[in-house]
Amino acid sequence: MSRLHKTLMTASVALLGLNGCGGADLPEAETTASTRQGVEVATAVPLPVPGCPAGALDTDGDAVCDIVEALLGTSPTNPDTDGDRLNDYAESFGFAGLDLTTLGANARKKDIFIEADYYPGLQPTQAMLNRVITAFANAPVSNPDGSTGITLHVVVDQQIAAADADSDLNPVWTDFDVIKAKYFTAIRAPYFHYMLFANRYSGGNSSGISRGIPAHDFVVTLGFIGGGTELQQAGTLMHELGHNIGLRHGGTDDSNYKPNYLSIMNYEYQFYGFGIGGLNNVLDYSRVKVAAFNEASVNEVSAFAPVAPTTEADLAKISGLRINNIQVVGNASTNLDFNNDGTIQAASYAKDLNRNGTTTDVIPASQNDWLALAYDGGGQIGFAGTGFNRDLGREELYLVAPEKMEPCLTVDASTPR
Ligand SMILES: [Zn+2]
Repeated sequence: MSRLHKTLMTASVALLGLNGCGGADLPEAETTASTRQGVEVATAVPLPVPGCPAGALDTDGDAVCDIVEALLGTSPTNPDTDGDRLNDYAESFGFAGLDLTTLGANARKKDIFIEADYYPGLQPTQAMLNRVITAFANAPVSNPDGSTGITLHVVVDQQIAAADADSDLNPVWTDFDVIKAKYFTAIRAPYFHYMLFANRYSGGNSSGISRGIPAHDFVVTLGFIGGGTELQQAGTLMHELGHNIGLRHGGTDDSNYKPNYLSIMNYEYQFYGFGIGGLNNVLDYSRVKVAAFNEASVNEVSAFAPVAPTTEADLAKISGLRINNIQVVGNASTNLDFNNDGTIQAASYAKDLNRNGTTTDVIPASQNDWLALAYDGGGQIGFAGTGFNRDLGREELYLVAPEKMEPCLTVDASTPR
């Protein structure tokens, strides 16, 4: 926190007698069991910012006047300077009883917040979380403060009581909501994704599921295989979070196992990650755009081709590629042993690389996932787009319509890795 920021915060508390930007009194009459959390925030109003005289110009209507925006280095013409769908006011001063600044929010650098609750025995370790936090920190995403990366905040919150830890969430979202209603911290509703580390859902053997694409909620269900390894947990967390922030199994589409889609959203990589820069099992969304790929003409020497601004040098950094559940030698740029026969063949050949039984697919170019993220989680996280002085406009945090609820990677419990 900057000195200016501390000064403003201190002044806020002193002048207003509040902790950060405490919420306004709430009209109980409008509160119902199903909409309570959304309504609380929707009816809260921003408190005056210290340093903003009455009537001070606030060009972007985010309740931070232009004078203070200049001091904070935030944009006077954009209520969400860093584009993470968290409003400049909320990121700088907190809102409705939640001090996002204390939690590490930065109005000039992209933030994503998750509350994590867990079944007994499934508490996420910091080492596991750090694998994902590091992936986001290394994201090729630029910020107004000159930095790159995204700050992922995972607040590990509560263990679900044994009596509430339904061994099979079935139907998954009905049972999930029973737990969420009891354990999720209500004032976090407009800002946080909610993640549950649980046992199993819908009677199946799937590792997890997102409530939609994009969405606010997701479940990691590795309890039924004893919790899974650190890498399985981290990979699944990042995969389901990826759905929460708009990514599909094929990036922009639902086509899985696309060989030129080098992302943890591709099932081929959920439990493994990539080799990047000499490190193994690095979790990553796609950071390269790879050209269309013709299964009828696989060439091991030339491997994949980049689409600008991605370069051959960018592809060359990525190894640990997997074809049909086998890790093959080589890198994405060159000398990639697609058929895992131990030699690099000069002649092209046809091969099924996406597990659909044909060798004739022309797989479209992939995307750079990191530049395609949906930060609003399908709702209006942080209500940055609506202008501050309006209501939240998101009446029910649970009712984000899922576009898709396909189970994610079915775990082979016989060979946990
Ligand atoms: Zn998935």
